[in-house]
Amino acid sequence: MTEKVEGSHKDFLRQIVEKDLKSNKYHGKVVTRFPPEPNGFPHIGHAKSICINFGIAKDYNGICHLRMDDTNPTTESPVYVEALKDSIRWLGFDWKDKFFYASDYFPKLYDYAVQLIKMKKAYVCSLTEEQIREYRGTVTEPGKISPYASRSIEENLDLLARMKKGEFKDSAHVLRARIDMSNANMKMRDPLLYRIRHAHHYRTGDDWCIYPMYDFAHCLSDYVEGITHSICTLEFENNRELYDWILDNLELKLPRPYQHEFARLNLNYTVMSKRLLLELVEKKLVSGWDDPRLPTIAGIRRRGYTPQSILNFCESIGIAKANSVVDFNRLEFCIRDDLNQKVPRVLCVLDPVKVVIENYPEGKSEMLDSSYYPHDVPKTGSRNIPFSREIYIERDDFMENPSKGYYRLSPGAEVRLRHAYIIKCEKVVKDSAGNVIELRCSYDPGTKSGEGTEKKVKGTIHWVSISHAKKVTVRLYDRLYKVEAPENLNDLNPDSLKIRENCFIEPAVVTDKVDERFQFERQGFFYIDPIDSKGDKLVFNQIVQLKDSWNSKSVAAPTNPVAGVKKVVQPVSAEIKELTETEKVIQKKYVDSFKISLENGATLARDVKLASFFDKAATSSENVVTLSNWIVNELASVLKSIEVQDLKFDAKTFSQLVNLVHNGAISGKIGKDIFEELVEKGGDPEAIVKAKGLTQVSDASVIESLVDKVISENPANVKKFQDGNQGQIGFFVGMIMKASGGKANPKMVNEILAKKLAKS
Ligand code: ATP
Ligand code: MG
Repeated sequence: MTEKVEGSHKDFLRQIVEKDLKSNKYHGKVVTRFPPEPNGFPHIGHAKSICINFGIAKDYNGICHLRMDDTNPTTESPVYVEALKDSIRWLGFDWKDKFFYASDYFPKLYDYAVQLIKMKKAYVCSLTEEQIREYRGTVTEPGKISPYASRSIEENLDLLARMKKGEFKDSAHVLRARIDMSNANMKMRDPLLYRIRHAHHYRTGDDWCIYPMYDFAHCLSDYVEGITHSICTLEFENNRELYDWILDNLELKLPRPYQHEFARLNLNYTVMSKRLLLELVEKKLVSGWDDPRLPTIAGIRRRGYTPQSILNFCESIGIAKANSVVDFNRLEFCIRDDLNQKVPRVLCVLDPVKVVIENYPEGKSEMLDSSYYPHDVPKTGSRNIPFSREIYIERDDFMENPSKGYYRLSPGAEVRLRHAYIIKCEKVVKDSAGNVIELRCSYDPGTKSGEGTEKKVKGTIHWVSISHAKKVTVRLYDRLYKVEAPENLNDLNPDSLKIRENCFIEPAVVTDKVDERFQFERQGFFYIDPIDSKGDKLVFNQIVQLKDSWNSKSVAAPTNPVAGVKKVVQPVSAEIKELTETEKVIQKKYVDSFKISLENGATLARDVKLASFFDKAATSSENVVTLSNWIVNELASVLKSIEVQDLKFDAKTFSQLVNLVHNGAISGKIGKDIFEELVEKGGDPEAIVKAKGLTQVSDASVIESLVDKVISENPANVKKFQDGNQGQIGFFVGMIMKASGGKANPKMVNEILAKKLAKS
């Protein structure tokens, strides 16, 4: 779906830019712009647009303008202007001296409006808002010409001048382009260019009481600034015709800019509309625009994400022309991947239980020289960790009645303390209510880490020395919403923030530095909160967990019939969950030779069974990237409860199934159903498809009628979509797929739906 291919292939936007450079359309110039409306804090979707616009300018020696698209007086504020500038700088981009306000062009835009009237291409219309809507017609019926369309040039000029002077109340008149009331594109049915709004503008004050509409202001602002490529999101596809009409009909001096659309970024488990974000902020459901749970750039930054990880993320999702929803895990993968190579590993106990090492002398302590980085991170540095008789370990790392496969501490069992010794649990001390309050242990002095004679035990846990540790606050974050496509505030995840105030960290971490990130071993990556950490008090924000827990949750979910066969026991690995040196080599091999994702490469590298299945299946695969996704997602979850030799199908059969999905014969959904059947009974995928009549529907007219049906049956959802709730796209796609029995080609569904919704 993404049109960016590594190597010589460029994404479609860069291809357009290169073509224009080649034909010398703009005399070698590349000028892009990022045109936010300052009515909220920018979010990660804007980051995508920023990366594209500033990135293209950078790649072709051009420049990207930053323009406040501030033509709507009622919602804008200088606070947001500063937030926008701040975010762009933080991402590492620079607009040099090219900072503009669309509101600076109000006089120019007015002159262009006058010119259109003089050319008989615009008129003042005095229908009411409701009449205008009525006259516009519908997708299936043409509109009616306004009775005011025949006003003379003089009358129009006079009325516009008086509108500007403030002689009329809001909505009494509007200025409209005279185009075509029966145009198939509703946007071309005499669109509004100016409206009356007696409202105070944060920059122009009360100078104006008429304000230009987006479609009029945007193309002309682009033109005035000498923009060459005006890149925007797909919702504006239908506006392009009007963009062109205005610039062409004013008969401006060429060259002029052209508009190109790409798919906006949607992420699951969060919302990205500024209106919905504002609601969260205003209702105090989050702590502010920079709440670390928000997808705002300010929030992500405060959470501890690095600019580089956001750039990598934007690069990895590519630039496509079809809308899709990106998995939150991908964003988390990018931050993990970036921090893995950069940050020191330290020890911090989040839920402490006391351990007394009985055979370690009272009053004694020793310093353990411990590396900050594992062997496979090309960085050096170490610190001393104090060890003593009384330590804290994680409550979770002790189990009185351990389940099978539990390798951490339990009565009589041994475990290694990271960077220190092996200890053995001798006795459990409880309070009167039966809660474990202390563990009495012994240590083996001959097992000091790094001193050769290491005795091997299966588990390693983290710890801190009680008298040396520093008490800190740790904020643990989870997804902001509990569902993939949130619709309203009921979908908020009540557990998205957990504050732990009784955490203990090793002393080396306590410095006066801010803007620092750490990996707390076995816990995740953490960032010193730049605002709430003051003096002696340290507050850490969890940036991301070490491993994505949402995937493992879904593996064990009861809705997965295959995983339900046997209880899935999650591997309780006490080791640090990073790739070893060897695994990294294997990962690289897969990524380089098959061009599969780093995530998939890592999964294959970690799991020999999966990797060898992949190798076999790849020999008959039509697309190894798709194959790798199926192996890592579908097959891997089955192999948690079944051994490879017990599967009822072989690698070749699996590959045939994936081929059917890849070449569009069946949809992904049907592919998964067939996969389940293979797991249960085995069989031949092609024969199953034939026998059940499951072939994918790719007939546009069939899909179109399904789309129409679902749209007309769900007016409330159409309204929500029109109000800016992008999550509705997921709803509609789901309903349409369902209506087709899962057989519709999802890519076509997406495309047709986008067109129809834009016109609705
Ligand atoms: P929202 O719907 O959240 O209010 P918007 O599109 O109204 O966002 P603008 O300030 O107009 O916000 O957006 C500035 C630029 O960022 C526009 O060019 C827009 O196309 C782009 N943009 C906004 N959201 C996204 C997104 N999710 N993915 C990619 N680009 C986006
Ligand atoms: Mg907008």
